[in-house]
Parts: sequence; C-alpha cells; structure tokens
Amino acid sequence: MPTPDSCLRKSSQQPLGAFRRQAASEPDFFSAQNLHGEHCGVCGRDDAEADIWIADGRRMCVQCRRLEHVGGHLKEAEYLFWVWGNDRGRARRTLIRQSESRIGLPGADFDVYLLSEPPVFSELTRMDNAHLESINRLADPDGNHHGYSCGFRFAGKWDKEKSSGDWDFDKFAENAEGIQKLGVLRMDVDNLGEILIRGLDFKEEGNSGPHPQPLSQRERGVSGEEREKPLGSLSRVATLSRQLHLFFAGYLMELLRNFPRVQVIYAGGDDVFLIGSWDELPRAAKAIRGEFRQYCADNEHFTLSGGIAIVDGRYPIARAAELAGETEHAAKALRRGKFIDKEKDALCFLDTAIGWENFEHAESLQIEIRSLIDGMNGNRAILGRLRAVVEAADEFRRLSLRRNYSSEQMAALIHWQKWRWRLVYNIERMTKRYKDLEPRLKELVKRIVDPETKATQPVLDWLQLPTRWAEFLTRRKD
Ligand SMILES: [Zn+2]
Repeated sequence: MPTPDSCLRKSSQQPLGAFRRQAASEPDFFSAQNLHGEHCGVCGRDDAEADIWIADGRRMCVQCRRLEHVGGHLKEAEYLFWVWGNDRGRARRTLIRQSESRIGLPGADFDVYLLSEPPVFSELTRMDNAHLESINRLADPDGNHHGYSCGFRFAGKWDKEKSSGDWDFDKFAENAEGIQKLGVLRMDVDNLGEILIRGLDFKEEGNSGPHPQPLSQRERGVSGEEREKPLGSLSRVATLSRQLHLFFAGYLMELLRNFPRVQVIYAGGDDVFLIGSWDELPRAAKAIRGEFRQYCADNEHFTLSGGIAIVDGRYPIARAAELAGETEHAAKALRRGKFIDKEKDALCFLDTAIGWENFEHAESLQIEIRSLIDGMNGNRAILGRLRAVVEAADEFRRLSLRRNYSSEQMAALIHWQKWRWRLVYNIERMTKRYKDLEPRLKELVKRIVDPETKATQPVLDWLQLPTRWAEFLTRRKD
C-alpha cells in the first residue's frame, strides 16, 4: 500500500513528467516564438498568424482589417436583412451585386446583410425565409411582393447626418474647444443586477388589513410590519430590460442630435460608449443623466455612473476605451455623504470622481473661472492659485494616509490647512489689480473657503475638476 508520503511525491511529480516529455519532444519548446516582427497598430497583436499588412501607413492584422470592413458597412447601414433556410443561396447570388456586407456568424444557420438600400430582387423572386429591418426608422407597413417580413430595430450607431459624420478620430480632437483632444465616455446603469433581482419586489399595500393566515417572520420583513410581495416574473424582467434598451438604443440617438461633435460607438442594453471632441462629452453625459432620470420617473434607484477619458486623436481607441472604463470604475467606487450613505450615481472626469448632485456646482465654478479669466484679458494666473489649493489638499491627504482619519475628520482637517489664508491673500492681491472684479473674486473665494454642511462631498474633494476643466478650455490651440 502506498504511504501518504509517496502519494504526495507521485502526484506532484507526475504532472511535471508530462511537461518533461513535451519539452523533450519539442526542442524549440522554450525558445522564443516566431513572431511577425511587427505588431498590429490597432490591437498590438504580433504573432505569426497576425498577417500584418501596411496600408495608408497603418499596420493592421487580419482580424482588425475584417473588423474595419464590417465597421465601415455598419456606418452606412440603413437596413439589416436576415436570411435563413433555402433562401440563403439566392440572397448571396443576388446581393453580391448590391454593395453589401454579409456577416457570416460561424455555426449560425442564417446570414445577415448590412444594406444601405432595401434589397433588390428580380420581379418573381420569392424570399419567404427572410426578414428586413430598417434601422432607427419605422418600417413601411405595406411590406413587399417578395414575401419577406418587415420590421424595425433601434440601434445606437454612428450618425452620418451630423457634421462629424465623416470625421476620423483625430478630427474630433482638432475640432475640440481649447486643448485639442479626443474624449471617450462610458456610462451605464448602476446596480442593474440588483434591480432585476430585487427591484420587482414591492411592499404589499393595505398590510394592516386582515390576512387569512398569520405572516411568517420572513414575510414580515425586518421591521415585523412590512411585507414584500415578489412580483418579478419573466415578462416583467423582459419589459424592464426592453424599456432600458429603448432609452439607450432608441431615444439616446435623438438626444445626441444636440451634440454635433459626439458620435456613438455603442449604445444599447443599459450602457453607452461615445467618442467626441472632449469638451462636448461632459455636457452630453449630463444631458443623458438628466433625461434618464426623467425617463425613470425620478425613481432614485435608477442611477447612471460614467467616466470620461481624454486622449490624443491618434491614440489607439481600444486602449482609450479601457481608460474610460477605469474612470467609470472610479465613479462607481465613489462613496460619500456624512454617513457614507451615498455611492455610485457619479461621473469621473479629469481624474476627479464627483457625485452628480455636485456636478452642476462644479460646472458653474468652471464657467465663473473662465469668465474671470476673460475679465482679466486672458490672464490665467487665477488657475495657478486654485491649482495650489488642490495640490495642498492632495498633499495633506497623502501625508495623513496612515492616520486612519474618517473621511469626515479628513475633510475637517483639510478645511483648516494653510491653503486658506494663502488663497485669501493671493486673491486679495488680484483684486488690487482688477478692481472691478473684486466682488466676484471674493465670491469665488467664499465658495471654496466657506464650509458647506449639506453637500455630500466638500468642495476640496472636487475642486480639481473645475480648475482643470477651465484650464483645458482656455488653452490656446497654438
Ligand atoms: Zn489587430
């Protein structure tokens, strides 16, 4: 009988034995793989199968070339044409002549075509195994004499009607106000899983009335008085998710018409991925959040968090999307309020996570800072004064990291640091030079120095946002 010790040895040696055989049979096992030498400029792939081509000075792998091909057709697509069964071959033969893109999904028993016009078939062709969907437009209810069904589909997509309809990514940067950068916004509904799981349980009405049987502890709930009735059902969950999709894939496109320098990369389900000239994105994010609140009848459980990343126009878009994802994550991680009772429902922009309830305050500070700069004939010295406050607060936080202050203690301590008198002193000196701006400069100082007891986040938590925002907007293009 094997001893436990020998078992242990055997089990730990045998797997290595397999590797040893593998390594012995392949002399090149540990040598570097045969790489292509060049990597794809889009995804970074550099393996031997990447099949990298250089076109228009760009290096692209086979996969990215295919995606670009589909992406180009998606931009132009006005219709989706679905074909299955016996009609697949006929559709392929006919539609190959129309400028089209067929998307073959491996293993699927249907084809789907991206078309810019409805498909054209000869007079007598019957296409019973097909369905035509117009994108973001209601379909012609009269149908057609080829026999395929017609419908419509809402899809968040690139809007070529806008002035930015044929822009490259770097064109968005060129056309930005202030600093020439491209912005990427990602946003989605907070706690959607929880909403779907528990959101359809309602307090039972009239629970003071007679119940046929005594309530169990679970039915009574924690308070012993309220009873929740689970109303979740497949159809209710489907309705909820369809309603969310209608907002993000349908209404969002309409809403974004007011933002000519913003385009949709993806929108649907419960989330959004936009690109645009950086300066237009915070306004777009605010509009989406505001309209979404209304759409949900101001139900406090439906909130959105988002993140905006700012990059150069030539920055790889996949990496920019990751950066925006990280900033969105920072917004979702934001906890605030006197009793840390509020979380998510926030935006992270310019490395600052701010609750939506404070966003307008930050935006109005940004507008006031810019207006003051205007009033000083473009002298941006005030930005330096505000940046010094932000840096002083940051440094205090850094030095106090090990002290385990509560966030409330930390806010109070930062509040009374020496940045206060420095700011007051520096702005006072400015008022000597710009006499007519004195009341406004003093008001600005007051907004930063005066404690706000009701705010969920003290100003010093997010002062960086309006300061950098104003700085980027006033940076001259040259
Ligand atoms: Zn690639």
